[in-house]
Amino acid sequence: MIKSYDNLPHKPHDECGVFGFYNNDNFDLPALTRDALYGLQHRGQESAGLTIIKDGEPYTVKDLGIVSNVMTDKALSKLPRDGKISVGHVRYTTLDYLERAATQPLVMRYIEGSLALAHNGSITNFAEIRSELEKGGSIFQSNSHAEIIGYKIATNRIEKDNFMEAVQRTMDDLKGAYSMVISSPSKLYGVRDPHGFKPLCLGKIQNSYIIASESCVIDTLGGEFIRDVEPGEVVAIDENGITSYHSMTEKITSLCLFEYVYLARPDSVIDGVNVNEARQKAGRILFEENPIDADIVCGVPDSGLDAAQGYAEASGITYATAFIKNKYIGRTSDGVGNDKKQKLLRMRLNVIRNIVDGKRVVIIDDSIIHGNTSAHIVKLLKEAGAKEVHMRISSPEFVYPCYFGVDLPDENNLISNKLSVDELRDKIGADSLSFLSIEGLHKIAEGCKIRLCDGCFSGIYYADLPKIIYEDKFANKIKK
Ligand code: SF4
Repeated sequence: MIKSYDNLPHKPHDECGVFGFYNNDNFDLPALTRDALYGLQHRGQESAGLTIIKDGEPYTVKDLGIVSNVMTDKALSKLPRDGKISVGHVRYTTLDYLERAATQPLVMRYIEGSLALAHNGSITNFAEIRSELEKGGSIFQSNSHAEIIGYKIATNRIEKDNFMEAVQRTMDDLKGAYSMVISSPSKLYGVRDPHGFKPLCLGKIQNSYIIASESCVIDTLGGEFIRDVEPGEVVAIDENGITSYHSMTEKITSLCLFEYVYLARPDSVIDGVNVNEARQKAGRILFEENPIDADIVCGVPDSGLDAAQGYAEASGITYATAFIKNKYIGRTSDGVGNDKKQKLLRMRLNVIRNIVDGKRVVIIDDSIIHGNTSAHIVKLLKEAGAKEVHMRISSPEFVYPCYFGVDLPDENNLISNKLSVDELRDKIGADSLSFLSIEGLHKIAEGCKIRLCDGCFSGIYYADLPKIIYEDKFANKIKK
């Protein structure tokens, strides 16, 4: 299946959301896991899946599509409701085609039993590990990074005394970004890479335990937040509670700063920083760095709204809702290329004309990748009668790629690599344009318990970059 999102306005995407539950009560595990995955849907809309472990046996529902399409009542009715462990996953892929075989949780049966694995991130030595395993005779169903991790754990388990040691041994081999939930037949594990690129947290509801990419899921389930899983930590959960193991912690951790700007839900708290507050702070700093005289401040829904409130608060300029976003658009029938893109943009965002007519408007968005969406937004505002449009971006310019699981185009396709800010302002048709500084970006996450990654803005990465880029010889053949 060809990816259907190519023609939508481009925003960087995270690759996945992960969830795990250890049931020490009598929760209906399939229903609870589906509810949890609704809370992670923003982290991936291309496939969804859950595995229930009952008496050591895995039962799985997964497919391409969003949670509500995959986890229908009918599909979940085939799963045991009284399982002990669940593992859930939502996926976004950077590949330009979708692989059903790569949907997660990945379930494997090996000599010591079965495991279910859900992964968020990107393994930067994927090509080397895949090649080593292939030379050893391993056969793969997909290009999923989860699959090589699963193979590594399964093979390491043969040599190690227990599953925990196999996971820790596997972490020694992996480089890059990984926050994972894994089940063995009897335990649930949460794993965060030593750099802490991706968030992962722990919660509790009654006597049962939750592991999730974001704390908003714990709130959704009515549970209480316990703490973040630390970089380099593995937590093992069974009926006796949580046991923590610190495999390794990098001296320089690298939590993705873009989680605070765009990727995470605003009602989540990540490593001690409230995402909503971080975005409002970005707006306040944006005004301090780039003030302008105007009549109203508006945000591009959804992730520009909090920063717009911050900008309005700091500037004293009236905050207003200028755009209505239609969240229910899937495919459209006619138009190709730019025509179709324009049509989708127009269907997705509409301006409330009387709010902006005759006004000097400050419009806040979270990022600019290609510039086309920004140009469209400015055009919509001007067509609706805005006298001036001043665009403010609540992140710095994207000028370098991400190697750690966020789907950014390569350097050649990032507009800020081709145009200066003034040239970009002219291209999008705004009266002024400015970005948050890198220093300002770090200030939005002040109080964060770990150090932050700003690699795609600064070009400085505190982790090993891929040495070999994996090329799938069969990719073109399996496109349909
Ligand atoms: S390079 Fe950018 S998008 Fe990637 S992890 Fe770092 S801050 Fe996040």
